[in-house]
Amino acid sequence: MTVPSSADVVVIGGGAIGASIAFHLAEAGVRDVVLLERDELGAGSTCKAAGGVRAQFSDRINIELGARSLHAFADFGQRPGQEIDLHRVGYLFLLSTPEDVASFERDVQLQNELGITSRMIDVAEAKRLSPLIETDGLLAAAWSPDDGHCTPESVVLGYARAARRYGATLLTGVTVTGIDRDAGTVTTDRGTIRAGAVVCAAGAWSAALGDLAGVPLPVTPLRRQIIFTEPMPGLAGVVPFTIDFASTFYFHREGPGLLMGMSDPEQAPGFQLNYDDDWLPRLGAAIGVRAPSLIDVGLRNGWAGLYEVTPDHNALIGRAGNFLYATGFSGHGFLQAPAVGEVIRDLYLDRPPVVDVGPLTAERFVAGAAGRPESHIV
Ligand SMILES: Cc1cc2nc3c(=O)[nH]c(=O)nc-3n(C[C@H](O)[C@H](O)[C@H](O)COP(=O)(O)OP(=O)(O)OC[C@H]3O[C@@H](n4cnc5c(N)ncnc54)[C@H](O)[C@@H]3O)c2cc1C
Repeated sequence: MTVPSSADVVVIGGGAIGASIAFHLAEAGVRDVVLLERDELGAGSTCKAAGGVRAQFSDRINIELGARSLHAFADFGQRPGQEIDLHRVGYLFLLSTPEDVASFERDVQLQNELGITSRMIDVAEAKRLSPLIETDGLLAAAWSPDDGHCTPESVVLGYARAARRYGATLLTGVTVTGIDRDAGTVTTDRGTIRAGAVVCAAGAWSAALGDLAGVPLPVTPLRRQIIFTEPMPGLAGVVPFTIDFASTFYFHREGPGLLMGMSDPEQAPGFQLNYDDDWLPRLGAAIGVRAPSLIDVGLRNGWAGLYEVTPDHNALIGRAGNFLYATGFSGHGFLQAPAVGEVIRDLYLDRPPVVDVGPLTAERFVAGAAGRPESHIV
């Protein structure tokens, strides 16, 4: 197989972000959209994600990208036309320090101003919503009933199928090895493409592609692990996406059991992708504090994936001439994929983007103008 000799737009990366971009470009009538993925579609971080979708963030841009995407996920059966198993079970952040409570109160106020129906709730209500939790040490919680989770593979499949229906070409098993912005070419292991524009949607691997294009993209890979429990007879049908903010331990229902995850402060950056049980003692300790009834539940398989982390935990979205980029989502790229696809479409078409992402340009690090870090990272 060789690649086409020319394209209006080459999208590099076939995860949720790249697939959404290809779909939104092709749907808008952009001809000759070519997406290149070196592995299978979704094989990067996207299919390792916990599937959480939410608008509970601490700044305008992340809230708007999350909220717009939630609407798109809710409508996914019609556009692009794919069942994604969306469960709007809500996101529940459990808070145990006065500082966290104050910070979430500010954030909820901003979310409400932007139309999100989140609210602060007391500990008793948190327990009613998520009965598996132990409330000792909790002061309050932030609750957003419209958030939830859905299936990343289905989202990629839906965008990919619809993008192809609109005439885009999505190729797997093609590795990009060079980008010449002056010549307008993309070199791959299957040939060279003349490209009107190039979009980097290469997730944790984006820094290397930025280097090829001469546009610094400060994205660092960081391993994150999740694990699934055995089926839990009697488990409530609705389990909110529950996060113990202090420890970062989280869980939500996945089929007949739970999916559980947690960050690892000792994890060194790098492309380490092997699943390793060494995090289980820390996870066990957090479960013992916040959801002790889960301690004796049997564990099934787990897996590891990569967060694509930037210095301020906010995405890099922007345009440098004929090179566009959408990467560095630092753990929330799946949930922002629908809106980011629209934004890149708009930037490519020189329209005002549906969400003003001006502050997310990668130049903020060159200029040293990075803003407040996103604080709702789990
Ligand atoms: C354990 C875990 C849980 C997570 N949970 C959530 C969650 O609940 N909600 C959420 O929103 N996010 C979550 N995330 C983060 C989320 O997975 C990512 O932010 C998101 O998948 C990024 O999507 P992407 O399309 O940018 O990257 P990817 O899905 O990684 O896609 C990038 C693609 O680019 C390809 N590529 C790279 N280099 C090249 C090249 N040279 N040539 C061709 N192709 C190339 C790769 O093969 C890859 O498939 C989680 C991540 C992990 C690891």
